[in-house]
Amino acid sequence: THFGFKTVDKNDKEKLVKGVFSSVASKYDLMNDTMSFGVHRLWKHHFINRLDAGMRPGASRPLDFLDVAGGTGDIAFGLLDHAETKYNDRLSTMTVADINSDMLTEGEARFQNTRWNDGSDRVKFMVQNGETLEQIPDNSKDVYTIAFGIRNFTDIQAGLDQAYRVLRPGGIFACLEFSHVDNPLINYAYQAYSFSMLPLMGQLIANDRDSYQYLVESIRNFPPQEEFKGMIEKAGFFVPDNGYENLTFGVAAIHIGVKL
Ligand code: SAM
Repeated sequence: THFGFKTVDKNDKEKLVKGVFSSVASKYDLMNDTMSFGVHRLWKHHFINRLDAGMRPGASRPLDFLDVAGGTGDIAFGLLDHAETKYNDRLSTMTVADINSDMLTEGEARFQNTRWNDGSDRVKFMVQNGETLEQIPDNSKDVYTIAFGIRNFTDIQAGLDQAYRVLRPGGIFACLEFSHVDNPLINYAYQAYSFSMLPLMGQLIANDRDSYQYLVESIRNFPPQEEFKGMIEKAGFFVPDNGYENLTFGVAAIHIGVKL
């Protein structure tokens, strides 16, 4: 193994991941922008529009959202904004869960300046391992989102099983994650870039080579699209025909599952 990360004991991965995200929490946006040339913002925007979630006029009750590995709140605030702007939904609730309290603290600090900080208690932040979600009851959520989080799980299948458990029947699982480029030429360029340039940029911009190196490794080790789709089905979800969508040649992908 090149950098030692693959040799890490499974039980130590959690600690390693904690360390990585604690060290990047405050420069998290900078890191994302650097890595993806800002494209992650477009991907997130597309993910939120594709989900198109919100309480429809005439619906009997608001929705309960859960954003896991929600870190700094990007996806959570984006979903709430979409629901309100498009459907005038000011009632649906949002729980942001992340294993790392430093990332959540960033998210909570950002939350203070949003319009959802209205004393209504609609938005909650919870330190929670996505592999167990012990504070989230069975069948209690309508939409489970996870963006750039699940590849950091020690046990991805356990995370998917938990997603299935906490969703109500009819609930939607939606994941945005780095994935695999299948065009060999583009993949060649992408690998060359990510393998050599990213850790260097991490060093120069954030003075943090190791965290960037971890990111490159974690992306490599994440299962390819079809395999990940199979894991979602194994958790019990129905995956529709268009159950995954490649973004930017598969550099990232959206996976969807429905709890029937
Ligand atoms: N979703 C946010 C976004 O798209 O900007 C944050 C993504 S960040 C790359 C990954 C997040 O996953 C970190 O905040 C990290 O703490 C969290 N994470 C890693 N392992 C986790 C786990 N087992 N359970 C919950 N969150 C986890």
